[in-house]
Amino acid sequence: MPDRGVGESESRKLLRRLRDTMAEEAAGQARLDKITHLTADSMGTEVCSIYLFRDEVTLELCATEGLKEAAVHQTRMKLGEGLVGRVAKAGKVVNTADAPAARGFRYMPETGEEIYSSFLGVPIQRLGEKLGVLVVQSRTAREFTSDEVYALEVVAMVLAEMAELGAFVGEGAALAARHTEPRLMRGTMGQEGAAEGHVWLHEPRVVVTNLVADDPTKERARLEEAVQSLQVSVDDLLASAVDPEQRAVLEAYRMFAASKGWMRRMEEDIDRGLSAESAVEKQQSLARARLAQAPDPYLRERLQDLDDLSNRLLRILTGQGNETGAEMPADPILVARNIGPGELLEYGRALKGIVLEEGSVGSHAAIVARALAIPLVIHAGGVTTEALNGDHIMVDGDQGLVHLRPDDTVVGAFRDKMAMQAKALERYASIRDTPCVAACGTRVHLNMNAGLMADLPSLEGSGAEGVGLFRTELQFLVRNQMPKRTELAALYARVLDAAKGKRVNFRTLDIGSDKVLPYMKPNDEPNPALGWRAIRVGLDRPGVMRMQLQALLRAADGRPLTVMFPFIAQFDEFRAGRAEMDKAIARERRLGHPIPEHIEVGAMLETPSLAYAPRKFFEEVDFLSIGGNDLKQFFFAADRENERVRRRYDTLNTSFLTFVEGIVTRCREIGTPLSFCGEDAGRPIEALCLAAIGVETLSMRPASIGPVKHLMMRVDLKALKSVIDDARDGGAQSVRPAVMEHLRELD
Ligand code: PEP
Ligand code: MG
Repeated sequence: MPDRGVGESESRKLLRRLRDTMAEEAAGQARLDKITHLTADSMGTEVCSIYLFRDEVTLELCATEGLKEAAVHQTRMKLGEGLVGRVAKAGKVVNTADAPAARGFRYMPETGEEIYSSFLGVPIQRLGEKLGVLVVQSRTAREFTSDEVYALEVVAMVLAEMAELGAFVGEGAALAARHTEPRLMRGTMGQEGAAEGHVWLHEPRVVVTNLVADDPTKERARLEEAVQSLQVSVDDLLASAVDPEQRAVLEAYRMFAASKGWMRRMEEDIDRGLSAESAVEKQQSLARARLAQAPDPYLRERLQDLDDLSNRLLRILTGQGNETGAEMPADPILVARNIGPGELLEYGRALKGIVLEEGSVGSHAAIVARALAIPLVIHAGGVTTEALNGDHIMVDGDQGLVHLRPDDTVVGAFRDKMAMQAKALERYASIRDTPCVAACGTRVHLNMNAGLMADLPSLEGSGAEGVGLFRTELQFLVRNQMPKRTELAALYARVLDAAKGKRVNFRTLDIGSDKVLPYMKPNDEPNPALGWRAIRVGLDRPGVMRMQLQALLRAADGRPLTVMFPFIAQFDEFRAGRAEMDKAIARERRLGHPIPEHIEVGAMLETPSLAYAPRKFFEEVDFLSIGGNDLKQFFFAADRENERVRRRYDTLNTSFLTFVEGIVTRCREIGTPLSFCGEDAGRPIEALCLAAIGVETLSMRPASIGPVKHLMMRVDLKALKSVIDDARDGGAQSVRPAVMEHLRELD
């Protein structure tokens, strides 16, 4: 037997026989049985067995040639258990001459495997998704040759593809059709809200049906032609790309597309009997498996490049573009590995929900999803592999859960939750036009935060009194190049039109830190949040700020205008910003353009330092807005982007509340209008406490206005202030427990 070796022609013969098996009309189990028989025969081993996942952690012996028949569908092992479990867990080959002596061996008496010494197990996986393990065993103690390992891997790959195409469906619970079972995926919350709909894949999967090919020369030629056209298309993209980061990615693509190693490996696969498509997919699967284990970010990025490139190549080879002819469902839930903000904006409000396999809370796509108020779950592992276009899906953005093809119980519970949310919305709608006055008679102004034109309809819908924070950087972030002044002026004018006289606080460009413009050279800074960002960039490179101020003045066209500068850490930064504004006004006047009838220039208080600025600053600034997200991260020295620490310190921590109260006191003394526009303003309990310590204006996401107002109107803020004071005097670290207790008593 050792001399039988599985050479190229042998392997091709085996693949051809597999293909014929696939073509035959047969039940799933019969196919599996036949494959074990063919493989054992072709490899010259006494045993060939197929183990498939029954659930995420359990493998089941589903077919065997050589082991005891009675063990089929009986023998099971957990992921990591025994040699088979080890192969599945690590996604790596185990090849040993002496199986009983190998690490992790577990004897399964019902299989009668004790007489077999050599063991070769390879994972059955498709594009990074684990499906099972394929094993051959023989009595003679020997290690299998690399040719034999290779041949078994190719069989495993064909098996994976056949499984994907539903070839083994029919009998036995382990052979249920793929992509039909309910799946629950746990991700991370990106944007709250619940949505039900049907899957719409941003990048539909390429389906490869011709796995095996008879004529390697022809397949090599097809591959070569496809790679050439891939190279041309990458070159074309490169010729038109201006952004250095995009260019860097394309350069990497070009390097891979011309990589001899990649090409050689695919050609070897073809020589062994695979079609050009399955050769590409085999290499892609290997890259995905490595991706799952690669800790090094650079390597991960390169593997990701290879993955993207493989997809492009598969589309060329199969002729399947992004246009599959599928129609977008009426209630689409977008499923994607990742998505750029521009692409997301193109879908716009048509989407009911978004599920991303990657992404991050602070990503631009997440910002856009939030602006559009579309429930978003990120880090939903495996969703792009598991979901099919049109699958029923429920997205719980509050908990970061995704129910794919949910069963009736889940559907019922989920719909109940949605109905409750809808009821709450009705309640909020009924108080939309009522001013927010707390039970003690204190008037609190509720504004909304915005950043896109798409936000503006919410100004009416939410009952906001104005826009407390208009983040202008989103318009810069979603473009591939710097917007022009005329474009910006037109956009700001539309914002003011839509606001119909309500106040809009335009914040000048706040870039740097987490907000990196795709067309600006990224700065390699050790601590970007403490680095060259916001007003610091604006003052050092005043061109963009001047252009923006001019655009704002033009947009106002004589109407009142409110502008604020982000991240002012000391007085002179504000003065320099205001001087730029004065220059812009003078220039507009010279050019004969109308000047706003009333201009207010404010500053965002986002660093503790500004709270202690000279009195003169508080007198000069027209208003102050506390950027709580940044202020809190600097106050506690806890990165707002770092999952480990960002929720570690409570906003209702007495130190922080006392600090904010100090700002309120100074502003009151000097008569400086003050608002708070961080995320905490939109959290009902936090909003209550801020109002109780004297913050009279809060600016938040439009969806938060209803819940905040609804609660605020029922609470006596003066009584709440006493509760806060007592808790503080009593030495509490956070006033939250006392506040919650007090609110419970009110119910
Ligand atoms: C803040 O820091 O609280 C703020 C409102 O600004 P941004 O979140 O855009 O940094
Ligand atoms: Mg900020």
